[in-house]
Amino acid sequence: TPAVPATPAQRARLTVLAGPTAVGKGTVAADIRKNHPEVWISVSATTRRPRPGEVHGRHYWFVTEEEFDDLIARHELLEWAVVHKGARYGTLRRPVVEALEGGRPALLEIDLQGARQVRASMPEAFFVFLAPPSWEELVRRLVGRGTETPEERERRLETAREELAAESEFDVTVVNTEVHAASEELVALMTNPRS
Ligand code: 5GP
Repeated sequence: TPAVPATPAQRARLTVLAGPTAVGKGTVAADIRKNHPEVWISVSATTRRPRPGEVHGRHYWFVTEEEFDDLIARHELLEWAVVHKGARYGTLRRPVVEALEGGRPALLEIDLQGARQVRASMPEAFFVFLAPPSWEELVRRLVGRGTETPEERERRLETAREELAAESEFDVTVVNTEVHAASEELVALMTNPRS
């Protein structure tokens, strides 16, 4: 029979990837989805409408406000938060537990509010902060989207400044200078963590 892993670090565990808005969490997760099928990535439930090309069950589970209320009431969410423009996002608990029980390293790509909730309920999880190479680069990425009014942009910069300060709450920081390098570093940490 296979030996029981000697240390918790050798067992499959939950990794939580969070970081400031516009740092590229979603892009890093997509790169891992493409190149590392051994990593299980959670598909969140959300009340926002799908964007063109987004697939129900692959990018998100797109649910109604009533369905999201039910998920909360039935305690089916590991965490949830109102992320932006009033839409709610949450992690379904059961698939995460099943992935871990099946021995697969599991990844959540969620916002900072959600990461704090997971820390409260699963402190043994591994918390990775995705950071921009510099404040200037984060501003460039935020503004680069070019979809916000000046007031919205100011509000987002203020939020980003606060979010950057959360880095110290995390176990490790991965700097997102280049997406593929960052995703490889994250997978290496997930499967062979230093802590
Ligand atoms: P999107 O651009 O896809 O509408 O929103 C992405 C934002 O929602 C990102 O900040 C992402 O980390 C966050 N997010 C996605 N899924 C979840 C979730 O299940 N829980 C929480 N708390 N945040 C989520």
